[in-house]
Amino acid sequence: MTCPTCGKEIEPGWIYCRAPLLWSPKQGKATLFLGKEDVSLVKGGFPAAFLCRDCRKVVANY
Ligand SMILES: [Zn+2]
Repeated sequence: MTCPTCGKEIEPGWIYCRAPLLWSPKQGKATLFLGKEDVSLVKGGFPAAFLCRDCRKVVANY
């Protein structure tokens, strides 16, 4: 896979965290409860992700 920003090959790996890890369209959520528009990124294991160290970008599938 290549970086969507610079086009260089990006490194495969996984994101590790303490659950919940979620994506939300809202900034500054007061709680980490899953809202209607939120997406849990930890379902059945930590998500695989690709890293571009040059751009400091992470591309993950969930
Ligand atoms: Zn890059």
